[in-house]
Amino acid sequence: MRGGEKIDVRHLERIALIYVRQSSLAQVRDNTESTARQYALADEAVRLGWARSAVEVIDADLGLSGRSADGRSGFKDLVGRVCLGEVGAVFGLEVSRLARSSADLSRLLELARLTDTLVVDSDGVYDLASFNDRLLLGLKGTMSEAELHFLAGRLQGAKRAAAERGELRFPLPVGFVYDDDGATIIDPDSEVQAAVADVFAAFRTGGSAYQVVAAFKGRRFPLRAYGGVWAGQLRFGRLTHAQVCGILANPTYAGTYVFGRYHSRRVVEPDGTVHTKIVERPREEWPVVIHDHHAGYICWDDYLANHARLAANTTNAGARPPREGHALCQGIITCGSCGRPMSTRYHRNGHAAYECSASRADHMATATCRSIAAVTVDDAVTERLLDALNPEEVALALAAADEVCDRRARRSRAAELAVERARYEAQRAERAFHACEPENRLVARSLEARWEDKLAALTEADKALTQTQTAAPALPSRAELEALTTDMSALWHAPTTAPRDRKRLLRTLIADVTLLPEPDFTKARIGIRWHTGATDELVVARRLAVTTYRRTDPAAIELARRHTDLSNRDLAERLNTAGYTTGAGRPFDKNAVASLRHYHHIQPPRLLEDGEVTVADVARRLDISHGTVIHWIARGWLSARRALNDQWCILFDARVEDECRQRVARSAHIHTPDSTDTQASHELTVSEVAAVLAISTNVVYYWIERHHVDARRGPHGRWFIDFAPDVEAACRARIAESVHLKPVPQPQT
Ligand SMILES: [Zn+2]
Repeated sequence: MRGGEKIDVRHLERIALIYVRQSSLAQVRDNTESTARQYALADEAVRLGWARSAVEVIDADLGLSGRSADGRSGFKDLVGRVCLGEVGAVFGLEVSRLARSSADLSRLLELARLTDTLVVDSDGVYDLASFNDRLLLGLKGTMSEAELHFLAGRLQGAKRAAAERGELRFPLPVGFVYDDDGATIIDPDSEVQAAVADVFAAFRTGGSAYQVVAAFKGRRFPLRAYGGVWAGQLRFGRLTHAQVCGILANPTYAGTYVFGRYHSRRVVEPDGTVHTKIVERPREEWPVVIHDHHAGYICWDDYLANHARLAANTTNAGARPPREGHALCQGIITCGSCGRPMSTRYHRNGHAAYECSASRADHMATATCRSIAAVTVDDAVTERLLDALNPEEVALALAAADEVCDRRARRSRAAELAVERARYEAQRAERAFHACEPENRLVARSLEARWEDKLAALTEADKALTQTQTAAPALPSRAELEALTTDMSALWHAPTTAPRDRKRLLRTLIADVTLLPEPDFTKARIGIRWHTGATDELVVARRLAVTTYRRTDPAAIELARRHTDLSNRDLAERLNTAGYTTGAGRPFDKNAVASLRHYHHIQPPRLLEDGEVTVADVARRLDISHGTVIHWIARGWLSARRALNDQWCILFDARVEDECRQRVARSAHIHTPDSTDTQASHELTVSEVAAVLAISTNVVYYWIERHHVDARRGPHGRWFIDFAPDVEAACRARIAESVHLKPVPQPQT
């Protein structure tokens, strides 16, 4: 090895580092010869005098590019150890293996110089302290970087040239395959064809990528695998939203070959790391676009239309596309008072409202910001829209369309004529040039210049012609327009017309709707801005509140006021006979009369005479049930009369009350409480005693009846037992003696 004399004992007593790297995993896998040669450097180090134990191999960077030190832990380790001065020599097959970036390499070489570290490659040994060696290594580094640059340039150039011919092949999206000659063709598998075609059809009808996903619910969608073991095989899976977006955005489906839709860009993060990002280029910056390169599923215009429609669907970019709901002005209605867009809200009963909610949320609402029933605005706008589409207006519009056609035809005719003239002049200049004697150089030169000028003018005119022809969108035919507009109203109201379609139709003519400030709450002022630039202003009555239009006839209320002696049911009959109805238009019943009397503060008829009480009053006074009182009346023990509403009126004086109390005391069935005292802490209920003793409640009731245990009645006739320890002991003794009592299993509490 050349320069072996530069190695001395200072180097040999430190370690030798062998740096092994391959740029990519493919190289590691396939280019084993190079890897083996790099590892063989370890033997070279031993041959040069290092002890085997002092030779270390750094191979952490196998499969990593040398473009930057980022992510190469091996290289960082190498630099770190050189810094520490523990390395006598760094071995690499060639300097370019160390780093493809001169900045990284220079840093390493500078550190090697400071720490007196040798660099050894296949050509020899370099001592960085020597200017010559430093220069040589620096040059080698620069050369290796340049080599990379030229290599990449050549590869990219060849790639770009192939792409410009439309011959650079890359993985095709599902629905396309390469044929045997390498041409792009539509996938011959008819299921794949149908599935892809249906994606575009579903987008045409649904109008959004989500609608396409919904249309494919329960249906499988084909996928072509690229690379790996499944390469080229057809697999099926669920169609996802991202896939739909990818298909709609891919120009391949329009038969167009595009190269360079994406490019990579290196970005520096705030922490200094460098990343490569894949960035999408805007359509106008695509480097290679070849239309009609292969057969497509849609045409280029469809592709552009789909793109525009997708963009208009992006709500987080501010778009407000038509949604499924029936409120027509959704997305295009603005509050004229505060200038903010109004939101659409659907109530649980299906009614919709436009609300100026953003201003309210931000505390920016003005005095005339309000919510309005959607139907109030929609009806007015629809009426105006259908008016605008009446036959006379359509006739006018059609006349205008003819005019536009005419003007357009004239403009393109003018451009055609200009091209013709330019071509004629160019040909004349050409003829003049050819007719000129070649020896007459001066004349020939000026004629040639003139010819060139004319040719440039011809190109210019040609360009202008294509521009006029492509700039204006195609107009629908007159017959088509007429057929569409003859029965607009029927089409509009047809049940088959979805709200979304109505909204789209509305938006084709109306740019936006504004709820103008209107201090009068009973009115709404609606501004309409048409796409033509014309504006309209409508004033409509707002829907009345339900309490306003569902009002009972005042005469009916007057009648009710006069007949305070009638029961609710009788008054209902009287009102119905007189031909009155409730506010909702239904006949009166006793409940309707009761609420009418309540609402209008009309006293119901007096039911009770002096000294009379109701069933509820008696029950409450005697602390017995309603049923008992009714039972007494039925038995004739209590005299009572039926009042207006079939209500019992009971004459209840002191004598009657006394009789009743005696009856209660005598009765075995009626539970009267001994006291109103609630359960004391030392007292247990029947079920509690049963639970403690693990016996049935019936046994406890039996004991109480036989006075085996003492008990008192509390509120609602409930038994309470003073369950002192001696009582409990007595009970347990009774159970033990008894032949009948078997402890019953108690539910776990
Ligand atoms: Zn507002």
